[in-house]
Amino acid sequence: MKGEPAGRAREESFSRQLRARLEFYEELGLTPFYRRAAARPAAPPPAAAPRVAAREPVAAAPSAEAVLRPALSLFGEAPGRVEGDTLERVRADLGDCQRCQLAPHRRTIVFGAGNPRAELVFVGEAPGADEDAQGLPFVGRAGQLLTHWIESLKMKREDVYICNVIKCRPPGNRSPEREEIETCSPFLLRQLDVIRPRLICCLGSVALQTLLGKAVAITRVRGQFYDYRGTKLFATFHPAYLLRNPNANRQVQEDLRKIRQFLG
Ligand code: SF4
Repeated sequence: MKGEPAGRAREESFSRQLRARLEFYEELGLTPFYRRAAARPAAPPPAAAPRVAAREPVAAAPSAEAVLRPALSLFGEAPGRVEGDTLERVRADLGDCQRCQLAPHRRTIVFGAGNPRAELVFVGEAPGADEDAQGLPFVGRAGQLLTHWIESLKMKREDVYICNVIKCRPPGNRSPEREEIETCSPFLLRQLDVIRPRLICCLGSVALQTLLGKAVAITRVRGQFYDYRGTKLFATFHPAYLLRNPNANRQVQEDLRKIRQFLG
């Protein structure tokens, strides 16, 4: 396909930068924030319960707050925007992706949905069973709760953009593995670079840690604004976490109020 080599080159460039950044953090002794790749599963995954997956809160590296600085993102100050990029081009480059071990297990790639010029982007962790079946992000129970949150911001789902760090459903709703995040997240970064929202709201620790590039406890950093490549980054709990922990609702309502204030 015409344009495929260029797309591959862009993708390899993103992957190189990502790998270098992660190696840099490891050299500094920062704890990896997701599981190291395990052996490739020999058998298909067991049928899983509906995804209400987000595992919150995660344990923090002890020094997380000491190393957390605004404007320090996965790529730091490194350039990396793709000239003239579009969501269509990102999707075309993704293609029928077989780049990581999740490919054989998925039904549908869940790329993302919503307003390509959104002021507000929500980034979750990975598709669940409902999302895998429909090819759309956040359409299960957690998605219904997210819709409720969006409406409480006096917006509609079509006003915002919703996507995940990982585009394919991990078997059994397990946490994404390091290799999977390394391989898939460059596409998320390109999506964010194309949309250039005023605010990126990470839903849960996987999205937050992927964009910050370090192990941080969402319980400590939720509700705060950070700089991320020229836009603001914010984090709150994943809706699935709230479904299992309704006591966190008060904190989420505080976070939504801050988002409302920020967007004016
Ligand atoms: S998770 Fe991402 S990198 Fe892995 S197969 Fe799916 S689209 Fe490709």
